[in-house]
Amino acid sequence: MTKMLLCVIGALAISGLSSAQGPAAVSSTRDSNTPAPRPSAQIPAAPLYKLEDALLEWPLAPSEKAYSAIDGKHIHEYVEDLTAISRKYRDSGHPQFWGRIIGTQADTDTAEWVVEKFKKFGLTDVHIQPFDLPPQWMPQSWEITATGSGKTLHLESAQPAYQTKATTPEGLDLEAAYVGTGSEADFAGRDVRGKAVFIFSMPLPGSWRHTATAEGAVRRAEAKGAAAIFAIIALPGNIRTQLYPTGTNVPTFSMGMDDGYAIRDLIGQAPAGQAPRVKVRLDVKMEPGLKTGTVWGTLPGRTDETVDILAHRDGWFEAGTDNASGVATMVGLAEYFSKIPKDRRRRTMVFIGTTGHHNGGNMSGTWLLDHRDEVFAKSALLINCEHTSTVQTYLLGEDIRKANMYTGMLWYAGGPRRPKLQDIAVKAFHDAGVVTYATPERAAPGGEMSRLWPFVPGVQASDYNVFFHSDH
Ligand SMILES: [Zn+2]
Repeated sequence: MTKMLLCVIGALAISGLSSAQGPAAVSSTRDSNTPAPRPSAQIPAAPLYKLEDALLEWPLAPSEKAYSAIDGKHIHEYVEDLTAISRKYRDSGHPQFWGRIIGTQADTDTAEWVVEKFKKFGLTDVHIQPFDLPPQWMPQSWEITATGSGKTLHLESAQPAYQTKATTPEGLDLEAAYVGTGSEADFAGRDVRGKAVFIFSMPLPGSWRHTATAEGAVRRAEAKGAAAIFAIIALPGNIRTQLYPTGTNVPTFSMGMDDGYAIRDLIGQAPAGQAPRVKVRLDVKMEPGLKTGTVWGTLPGRTDETVDILAHRDGWFEAGTDNASGVATMVGLAEYFSKIPKDRRRRTMVFIGTTGHHNGGNMSGTWLLDHRDEVFAKSALLINCEHTSTVQTYLLGEDIRKANMYTGMLWYAGGPRRPKLQDIAVKAFHDAGVVTYATPERAAPGGEMSRLWPFVPGVQASDYNVFFHSDH
């Protein structure tokens, strides 16, 4: 490794390239179609290789050779199957609010996909435990436009926060106001009553946590009388993100940074007394009568003590990380262990594809919590497969850059009450090359184990990256 690094440095040294020459050469050949030169010295060049073919591999320790059949490239095919289910749903009449949404055809398709895999691997007792859903929040369509200084912006990256309030069919026609990060200081001396309020929001690290909600800016805007609220998620590009409920009673949206800068500049350039107007229309249907279900499958072992392996099936947009990666991991483990003779499987393995939690009601999770004494009565371990792998990303200047390695993960392995389990997990992560944060979390890092961890010995390693809950 060190030797390789030295060779690379040596090669760069003799090539005579300097950082001053690189960007200058780029901007001198620019034509009218290329973007204006940027202040940053780091501008990505064309790729030299396909990222997915160039990921670094962690050699398995001799003691772990038994697991070499667990092939990441093969398991990634399952991620592709699942993201294709999302795209099929999007392309069949749901261009704006799409994904493997609970209660939709994509949910049914995902459940059937898992059932088919479990049956193919010879699992027993494969079945779907059905649930009736309460009416589900389903935005049908929306449109946000801003007009000012003779220009009209179509703010296409706007996405309604989950469960946000619809407008009337004719929509709202509001004066635009930009309030920086939306702190008390930003609002000082401002009157935003009845206006469309735009807030610049710093991702922490993505839209999952960001300053507009973490610092109360969205709620503050509502308290000060905003009629519609937009959180501009400050990630390079024009990323669409789906926010969890913001608890506001006025239509509330997230928005990509390109659109956010465009409306900010439109407001900034408007002559005094002629603030841009914003039209907001959001049509939402509360859809009754939808169904979902938990998918179960069992691999009997030598004893009735169980190892339970769980993954939530739902997700917004392609949901490659959250949670195709987790479902693929669960299915990949079922496949691997189904090929081990039963008498070498010390415990019975129970696989659980849950409905998930990106909606108003966590059906499987609530049922599992209510029935924990029977379901987990003989559980030695619960492994929650949630966001199990993502390529590394770095925010560098005006770009999000990807690296040819997977990310470090938030993790939990039973906590101080179960020191032995923590030791086993730390060693296993280390030997298998799973990159983890330097310290574990005090509880399960979130998602499907967040209510179960006090009752079951659990392990989870999860990634929460900048693209979390986005269409990227
Ligand atoms: Zn998740």
